[in-house]
Amino acid sequence: MGSPLSSFLRQNKPLFFRIFFILFFSCIPDTANLCSNLSLATTAVQTHSASSDNHFSLKKLTLDGHFSFENIHYAAKDFGNTYHFHPSAVLYPKSISDISSTIKHIFNIGTASQLTVAARGHGHSLQGQAQAHQGVVINMPSLQKPVMKVHTGELPYVDVSGGELWINILHETLKHGLAPKSWTDYLHLTVGGTLSNAGISGQAFLHGPQINNVYQLEVVTGKGDVLTCSEQQNADLFHGVLGGLGQFGIITRARISLEPAPKMVRWIRVLYSEFSIFTKDQEHLISSESSFDYIEGFVIINRTGLLNNWRSSFNPRDPLQASKFNSDGKVLYCLEMAKHFNPDEAGIMDKV
Ligand SMILES: Cc1cc2nc3c(=O)[nH]c(=O)nc-3n(C[C@H](O)[C@H](O)[C@H](O)COP(=O)(O)OP(=O)(O)OC[C@H]3O[C@@H](n4cnc5c(N)ncnc54)[C@H](O)[C@@H]3O)c2cc1C
Repeated sequence: MGSPLSSFLRQNKPLFFRIFFILFFSCIPDTANLCSNLSLATTAVQTHSASSDNHFSLKKLTLDGHFSFENIHYAAKDFGNTYHFHPSAVLYPKSISDISSTIKHIFNIGTASQLTVAARGHGHSLQGQAQAHQGVVINMPSLQKPVMKVHTGELPYVDVSGGELWINILHETLKHGLAPKSWTDYLHLTVGGTLSNAGISGQAFLHGPQINNVYQLEVVTGKGDVLTCSEQQNADLFHGVLGGLGQFGIITRARISLEPAPKMVRWIRVLYSEFSIFTKDQEHLISSESSFDYIEGFVIINRTGLLNNWRSSFNPRDPLQASKFNSDGKVLYCLEMAKHFNPDEAGIMDKV
């Protein structure tokens, strides 16, 4: 038998060596820092001077909107709150030419400026996608052009600015009895932001995601050119930009396809405890002809006893009814469906 220490070391050898190596290597950077401090200082000076050169050259641009170099911390935050890359400037564009001349200018200075550019919609990304480290963030909601314009007719559409919120588009198009075909669940997102991803909700099984429901885009390219693109015109750019995470150009205008807005909607939620039955039903519904107008499935962690805040046809406070949905804290699955109808069809909706 050895001492308690040697027996501890034998049993925890890997742990001991890990701790030892961590302690050992943690001493080294002190020496290395002596060298790197100098280069860090030089880099800091260079960065500082590059950054003031950049500020100076950006300030010289003639714009309808303006640049901000102060109080721009918000542009280093997003919904994910994990990544915080600080820009050196935020552009508040008032016109498309503000965006185009800024990008042209940065392109012309070349890579020496180290300026990157990111469009920012409503900043609801999770991983810093709309941030630009030491670069220029373009605050898209301040671009109020073109003014939203609804075109009625056989193939109705609306022309909107890339910085427009979907909720505003809904309000405007409803005035004409129309609405976009494909949505996201949450509507306080910008057109440019969701078209740079996909834009998915319960209509996607019927109409495709939002990027499938766009007739035309106006885009500022990486060289600062303003191009119109569609399936027929500059098709590569069109397909690159849709779902392109802002890497192929900046959407300044989008032509969104519309349809008659439903007058009434029957909304149903169905709960499942079995995943396989839930997916079987969902697949059945999305593949059958003329079933629902909206179908979405999601997972619920039923921590607080059932769905107390749900609007529902049963009373969650009624112990008998609520007990039917008791999942003992296990995961539940939900199919959410909607059927559109006209007021004169209300009587037959239950049957349908
Ligand atoms: C609460 C919440 C609910 C959500 N619900 C849904 C949902 O139901 N369905 C769904 O599909 N997604 C949903 N999302 C995800 C959302 O669609 C994306 O995060 C989307 O990018 C957010 O839009 P935004 O306007 O905030 O864009 P930002 O986060 O500002 O930008 C997103 C990306 O698009 C780029 N970009 C922004 N504007 C432009 C432009 N004009 N031209 C080119 N590139 C641009 C940015 O550089 C960045 O890469 C949700 C997110 C949150 C936080």
